Amino acid sequence: MSYGYLKNHESTQKMQSINAAHHLHPFSDMASLNDKGARVITSAQGVFVYDSDGNHLLDAMAGLWCVAVGYGRTEIIEAAYQQMQQLCYYNTFFQTTHPPVLYLAEKLCNMAPDDYNHAFFCSSGSEANDTIVRMVRHYWHGMGKPKKHHIISRKNGYHGSTMAGQSLGGMDAMHHQGGIIQGISHIDQPYYYGEGFGMSEAEFTKQRTEALRQEIEHIGSDNVAAFIGEPVQGAGGVVIPPKGYWQEIEKICQEYDILLICDEVICGFGRTGYMFGSESYQIKPDMMPIAKSLSSGYLPIGGVLVNDKVNDIISHHGEFYHGYTYSGHPACAAAAIANLDIIERENLVNYVKDDISSYFAAQWATLSDHELVGEARSYGLLGALELTSHTKDYPHCDKPRFHANEGDVAMICREYCLDSGLIMRAVRDSMIVSPPLVINHEEVDLLITRARKALDLTYYHIKKDGMLII
Ligand code: PMP
Repeated sequence: MSYGYLKNHESTQKMQSINAAHHLHPFSDMASLNDKGARVITSAQGVFVYDSDGNHLLDAMAGLWCVAVGYGRTEIIEAAYQQMQQLCYYNTFFQTTHPPVLYLAEKLCNMAPDDYNHAFFCSSGSEANDTIVRMVRHYWHGMGKPKKHHIISRKNGYHGSTMAGQSLGGMDAMHHQGGIIQGISHIDQPYYYGEGFGMSEAEFTKQRTEALRQEIEHIGSDNVAAFIGEPVQGAGGVVIPPKGYWQEIEKICQEYDILLICDEVICGFGRTGYMFGSESYQIKPDMMPIAKSLSSGYLPIGGVLVNDKVNDIISHHGEFYHGYTYSGHPACAAAAIANLDIIERENLVNYVKDDISSYFAAQWATLSDHELVGEARSYGLLGALELTSHTKDYPHCDKPRFHANEGDVAMICREYCLDSGLIMRAVRDSMIVSPPLVINHEEVDLLITRARKALDLTYYHIKKDGMLII
């Protein structure tokens, strides 16, 4: 197959049938996907993607939370192309390095908080979190406390799909299919709207932070290596922790001498209006897995940033038997540098903080008056709409939301979004967004108009079908 073949593709139907015959998709029910036929995305520019039928879709998910600088940025493409001509591949094992990886490491450490001066590379967020498991255990060995092995995470957190990533994550459906590796446990999440019924926000915060203390005491602090969490849980449904949650979690980690890991795979590089989500909560993790907006998804790259406290041990404790063929791949590193250059030059972190996130928040909040929306919350450029028949309950009560299985209504809404020219993601009974950081005011308006239209269509549909609880 030539590149020309890819550009001048065949009919949608023909491509869908080839796809159905040979392609196994991630996170998909293959039988129903193949019945329906996959949407074929053929090009993209700015905040829009285009499919093979000529539909224009506003991509309010930035791909999979990653296309921070928008699609089609030629300088990233050019950087990768030139790097591949110069040095298409070399590894970073066996005492070798190359210019893109060392300059990327330096650049990242300049962008990170002061006590962050070292970066390890891999190809994805999942690999970054696998690295975390290996690294925290290596750290405690180096500290002479090899018993400190256990990692505490959260239910409904997401840390990837490899064996260690999904074990750190708190997704029951994934655990049921693959089991989880030993030495990891999960505490309740800080999801106030969904789980805080009957409690004030302050009471709920106390309950969910005390859960960490109780788990540490249950496992024994001599056995606990680390706590890991996303500053804002993304795939779990844009769960924004209540006020004071992270500060208290940090205090507990310090009190029991356990490492604090903030998974910055989604929040990193400006999504919250700060370079890192942990900075927006004024906390100081010891290690930060990164990926996604590190290259805006142009090429696959992830990594782990470690602070001096961790580096001082792991860099002076013999060989760390860990690494990947593509750790610091030259073309991916060059793309990441070009992407970070754009983030810096266009001042995107401040653009999110001082301009677009407040505009987005105000427009997004207008959707809370809809008959189907129980809460419209946002943080930086992350947003969630809670769909429910009981829009007056706050936080949500434990009654079923619809005469339907959990998630059915959001899936209907997702289809209406696509029909209306908008990509939103459905998570349980909520709709979530994470648009490119470069989205402008006009595009936010378009996002909101299309979202409202999709909500209206969903409302009429489920009312007609008797799914609404009246
Ligand atoms: N951590 C978080 C917080 C994520 O959201 C994701 C992906 N959505 C991952 C890790 C895994 O990243 P990847 O899919 O690149 O392996």
